Amino acid sequence: MVRSRLEARSILQKTGNDTVEGPVPLLKIAEDYMGCEVRLDDMGDVDGLCIPLPDPIIYINSRHCKARQRFSLAHEIGHLALRHQPEQIGRWEIEREANIFAGELLLPVLSVKRLACRMDYFDLAALFGVSTAAAQIRLNVLGLTPRRHRPGPSTALEATF
Ligand SMILES: [Zn+2]
Repeated sequence: MVRSRLEARSILQKTGNDTVEGPVPLLKIAEDYMGCEVRLDDMGDVDGLCIPLPDPIIYINSRHCKARQRFSLAHEIGHLALRHQPEQIGRWEIEREANIFAGELLLPVLSVKRLACRMDYFDLAALFGVSTAAAQIRLNVLGLTPRRHRPGPSTALEATF
């Protein structure tokens, strides 16, 4: 398994979050486990950035919606956890590694596997505080088919009347 997945799973396990059924406590992981300060700031079109050792700080864009901020925070925690060097950040393969880490951290494999049989990706996204796109990608990566898709308006009408 790729290093980024293993590292995220290891952090979830060590912090007791590998089977959570709710938003993974990212701030707590950043502060208590990574020893990292997190700040919100208006950063224009930048999602987030991290300043590594000796005193790591992660900046997250205050303008973005909560789901996007959570993904950005998980991504930046990934850069720190995977010990990416400042000169590496921005390279395609390094950013991809941080994204894989983020997906793994935000949607713990054990939790998602257990819940996917009774939830669709809209429900999973709401439960874990991620975007529906992130939840959908995660289910695809894990080879899971959600139990059902959210009924469209016509089905909802039929069910009501
Ligand atoms: Zn990055």
